[in-house]
Amino acid sequence: MPDKIMRFDLNRLVRENVKALHPYSSARDEYISDGSEKIFLDANENPFNNGINRYPDPQQRNLKAVLATQKELHEDQILLGNGSDEVLDLIFRAFCEPKEDNVITMPPTYGMYGVLAAINNIENREVLLAEGFVLDETVLFENIDANTKIIFLCSPNNPTGHSFPKEQIRNILETFRGLVVLDEAYIDFSTKQGWLSELSGYKNLIITQTFSKAYGMAGIRLGCCYASSDIIAILNKIKPPYNVNELTQQRALQAASNTASVARQVKMILEERGRLEKALKAMPFVRKMYPSDANFILVEVDDANKRYQQLLKKGIIVRNRSNQHLCTNTLRFTIGAPEENDSLINALTKLV
Ligand code: PMP
Repeated sequence: MPDKIMRFDLNRLVRENVKALHPYSSARDEYISDGSEKIFLDANENPFNNGINRYPDPQQRNLKAVLATQKELHEDQILLGNGSDEVLDLIFRAFCEPKEDNVITMPPTYGMYGVLAAINNIENREVLLAEGFVLDETVLFENIDANTKIIFLCSPNNPTGHSFPKEQIRNILETFRGLVVLDEAYIDFSTKQGWLSELSGYKNLIITQTFSKAYGMAGIRLGCCYASSDIIAILNKIKPPYNVNELTQQRALQAASNTASVARQVKMILEERGRLEKALKAMPFVRKMYPSDANFILVEVDDANKRYQQLLKKGIIVRNRSNQHLCTNTLRFTIGAPEENDSLINALTKLV
């Protein structure tokens, strides 16, 4: 097992071409509006105002200001992207040298880490979770070599719904000399505290969150990345200039200022999760139900393909996760609105 508390050298992790490149400087990077009336003839836009004829702020300053206050971070510790999927891709492209470097993922987990590794031609070292979705840290550390740039940890994890123990995450952060990407897409549903408040203590920590889940805005595609200002500066260098569009910025600003509504919906979703868990327990074809720290439940049934098809015939679409490691015959149920859950429970009751 490598020595604990390392000298973390970010410079060693950045790809040489990324270090060397001069980022594109957009019109809106070069002149930042001070809010006063100006005539903008710098970006080859159509001048006729329809609310979206201008390019959006490439640095999403207004939105970052609100998020920085809420998350108690500095604005230069935030990068926003077209969903967290874009953020994850940027992390690969900034730090992983194709055909040379590797990353570690821990199946069963979110499938995009592996897909992004493949797209970027990076070896994905899969450290399979053990029975009960337990991570064996010895196996994890055995898989690390000099070219391991990133460990992806999803907590709460998709599709299992479980969270990793805090001390295990801390141990990885304190032992690994590369980057730890902690995907907190489902953190708002969790009973566990997230890691944002620990960001200043770990220079190798990158946290991703999203507006797609608790915020109820999957349609606007907005992902958030929180890390040291040094890491964010590197990601900023390679991001597409206008990667978060104007409509997204506007809608996210409105939503970010209304956290009470998000909290209300999260509470309702968690209550509904409890109701669905209770109902599922009583179903004769349910073999096992995994405790969930997220807005979905992973359930092992007698025959996942059959149950999936039966639900589909009743107009209810769930996710069959059977082909994932340790997930044979599992279905993943997203918690719906109360009436949708009523329909699901009603349909499940009638399955033979
Ligand atoms: N991380 C996890 C764990 C997810 O489950 C998802 C989406 N299902 C994402 C990231 C991607 O989120 P976004 O919509 O922000 O791209």
